[in-house]
Amino acid sequence: MRKPGRQRVTLAAVVALLFVVLCGVSFNFMNSVQNSLWENSVKNMLESTVRGADQLERGYLKELEMLRMLAEDLGGGESSNADRIRSKLEIFLSNTGNFSSLIFEDGTGYVDNGLAVVLTPEELKRLRTLPGESGLLFPYRNRGTERRTFTIFTSVRFSDGRRGYLFKGYNVETLYAEYALSFYNNTGFSYVIASDGNIAMRPVHPGSNKTFSNLFEIIGEGKNDPAIIASFRKSLQNGRSGVAVFDDGKGENVFCYVAMPRMGGWYVVSIVPNAEVMREANAIVRQALFICFLGFSGLLAAFLVYARINGSHRKEIDALAYTDSLTGIRNFVKFRQDGDAMLRAAGARKYAMLSIDMLNFKIFNDVMGYTAGDSLLKAFPEILDRGAGKDALTARMVADHFVALVPYRDKMELREYCASLTLAVEAFLKSRRLDYHLELRVGICCTEDNDSTTSVNALLDRANIALQKIKQQSGEAWNFYEHSMRDRILKDQKLEARMEKALTDEEFLIFVQPKYWLASRGLAGGEILVRWKIGGEGMLSPGEFIPLFERNRFIVRLDRYMLASACRLLRQWLDAEKRVLPLSVNVSRVQFYTSDFVDACIRIKEEYDIPDGLLELEFTENIFFENVARLNLTVDRLKRAGFHCSIDDFGAGYSSLNMLKDLSVDALKLDGGFFRFAKDDERARTVVRHMLNLAGDLRMVTVAEGVETLEQVEFLESAGCDIVQGYVFGRPMPAAEFAELLESGEDSPDIVQSVL
Ligand code: C2E
Ligand code: CA
Ligand code: CA
Repeated sequence: MRKPGRQRVTLAAVVALLFVVLCGVSFNFMNSVQNSLWENSVKNMLESTVRGADQLERGYLKELEMLRMLAEDLGGGESSNADRIRSKLEIFLSNTGNFSSLIFEDGTGYVDNGLAVVLTPEELKRLRTLPGESGLLFPYRNRGTERRTFTIFTSVRFSDGRRGYLFKGYNVETLYAEYALSFYNNTGFSYVIASDGNIAMRPVHPGSNKTFSNLFEIIGEGKNDPAIIASFRKSLQNGRSGVAVFDDGKGENVFCYVAMPRMGGWYVVSIVPNAEVMREANAIVRQALFICFLGFSGLLAAFLVYARINGSHRKEIDALAYTDSLTGIRNFVKFRQDGDAMLRAAGARKYAMLSIDMLNFKIFNDVMGYTAGDSLLKAFPEILDRGAGKDALTARMVADHFVALVPYRDKMELREYCASLTLAVEAFLKSRRLDYHLELRVGICCTEDNDSTTSVNALLDRANIALQKIKQQSGEAWNFYEHSMRDRILKDQKLEARMEKALTDEEFLIFVQPKYWLASRGLAGGEILVRWKIGGEGMLSPGEFIPLFERNRFIVRLDRYMLASACRLLRQWLDAEKRVLPLSVNVSRVQFYTSDFVDACIRIKEEYDIPDGLLELEFTENIFFENVARLNLTVDRLKRAGFHCSIDDFGAGYSSLNMLKDLSVDALKLDGGFFRFAKDDERARTVVRHMLNLAGDLRMVTVAEGVETLEQVEFLESAGCDIVQGYVFGRPMPAAEFAELLESGEDSPDIVQSVL
């Protein structure tokens, strides 16, 4: 049987494994989801930055282009025409609100408000080192506006050959307000830097970092790999765009840097805290995890519900499988399980297995009704438990058969327990006003007497042997198992294994015991008795195997074989035209109750063509006692078919004299025990005499069996007995010997004085 616990553990293990695998897979999955989400966010950021840079660059180029157009326009006139220059500067800058100026190479010139300026030495120096013919200047604080100014410039050549530079300045903050990018709710911003990392433009938003003037200030050397910083620096110098992650001391930041090659190699750099980039991804991952968790919880819930249903279902099944439906106590399956465990743990403690049967429960059921029967069966477990103590196990095997495994100290306790059971049953029946005497039979096997490994099965086998034994005998209500009983069983098993073959090998020998007429001392016939000449083991007498054959029903075949053998003997004698006398054969109870008994007898008789009156069938007293009506019917049919019938062993059992009158048999065989009485026992003599008279009156031939002494012979003669069969006149002899006796015509038997 599969253990329920083990199955559940396996299932739990599978779920746990599933959970681990699921966790592993979802962790991996989440990781890759997170990565791709991060990449996606960064890509978006980069794209925004590229767009922002592109706009800025375009704006710059457009401004520069306009400045060039002005330069061209200015170049069409004289450098000395101050009015012209001033007005053009004014017009050009009228709607931008920033400053512009025209500065000649010598450091003099005009600004848009018409004032003539002379450059400071510092400004002059800047003029001398302008990067090319046109371009931009890194923002500086403008002297006139007092503001950080982003300046673009282009060269001008006047028609008179004089050279100068046209400058246009923009307030950085105002300018960049138009282009600045912000990310993730103003947690990230874009900056414009020169390729050396110096911040050219920064957003005005208070959230942006205003404390650094060079990008590399926030890429602290401590937290970041110097090699990566170096390579980043190189990328900027080489005009490469890309993405980098650096720690600014407060956490990781994503740097998207986009080069503007046409704007002096400057960069737009978007800097966003990585946590912000991750936030979105994390939210998505959290959602996914939540869904996963929901899914798994569902799975777990389903498993738990399944396990619970399964568990309670199993409990129900267990309850059904382990309890006896009528009494509600454990059945034998459970008894064996629990009992074996108990015996394994017994140690020095002694246990007794009791196999308990109600002797005539079937009749009780028939007489008192099934409700009464059931009420007794239901009450019995409680009766069993009452005296057995809390450590005992009890169960119902089948019908009225119970078992109990009881701890004990000495056997006296067990005897008292058995006695208490009988008393308790009596009391129960009385309390229910059930007027019936129900007897218990208990076979007991004690662990101390057990000859094999101690298990419920082994003990119960032996308790049953002990039970079987007392059921065969009558007397005590309980019986302890002894080794000899087991020997008997083993012997029976051996005989059982050989019986079939014995029949075909003709190991069953025919013995005949002569019967003599008392009056004439002439031979009256013989009784056919079986002997088993078992291969190599000598002769077995019927007592050693007939009871077994009655239990296993092999007796039916043996009896028919014996009847056929009797017929064969008669046929031989008839054919040889020898003297023939009637032979009797025994009919066992089992055979009597077979449905084709009469037909089989008739068929065998006809097969050998035996004349009427030569075959006699002996029915044991039990049959007559049990079912007179059926016996009479059978006897009638057999008599009509030419058989004689007799009652065997009369007086050995419980049959009463007055039953005789109901019987139509030809002969009555009185059991030997009947007249083995003391010489002076006049009462006994009277009874036998009376019986013989009665039988005679009923026209039955009387046969005295087991007659051993001449005194008995004399008494029987005087009492009017017809026939004697006993050692006193002749023992059972092989059929050939009997044939000789018959042939010799020596009718008077040799009187044997003492047989014992
Ligand atoms: P039973 O039918 O009562 O047979 C008579 C038994 O008494 C025989 O025992 C016989 O040997 C024995 N006996 C005869 N005279 C005396 C005597 O003076 N003193 C004593 N003590 N015993 C005497 P056996 O042959 O051992 O048979 C025993 C029983 O076995 C028979 O009792 C009969 O019931 C049964 N049996 C024998 N052969 C067969 C058979 O073929 N079929 C059936 N069904 N039963 C048989
Ligand atoms: Ca007999
Ligand atoms: Ca007999």
